[in-house]
Amino acid sequence: MYYRIYALEDQWYSPSAQYFKVRADGKRFILRYDQADDEWTLQSAYDGAELFARSSVRMITIDAALVRAAEKVIETCEHCNPEGAVIPFDAVLDRVTGSDPSVTDYILESPAKCPNCRRDFLEKTLVEPA
Ligand SMILES: [Zn+2]
Repeated sequence: MYYRIYALEDQWYSPSAQYFKVRADGKRFILRYDQADDEWTLQSAYDGAELFARSSVRMITIDAALVRAAEKVIETCEHCNPEGAVIPFDAVLDRVTGSDPSVTDYILESPAKCPNCRRDFLEKTLVEPA
């Protein structure tokens, strides 16, 4: 799928990558650019309404150490346990980081892995906490 980018709204840096918040076709996206690998990845997509409703949203970059800490409090995910996994991974991140869920969004520097099936998951993947 291709989107035409209309506006660069924000950008910031983490130790391993550069992030861009862009607007394209009525949606907003967070793009991650890894300079070492010269690789672009799509981190998150929002529709306009969702982002406007949360104008005070705070982006937190989750580094590899925090990802590992969050994995420790997870048993399974929606792939290996569709019935038991009912909590989005970002709710686990709220707990691990002590952040206010209503104003916080997360950017994962490296994908988290399910401790049970080893699949990658992202902020909105459903998980079962330990
Ligand atoms: Zn799993």
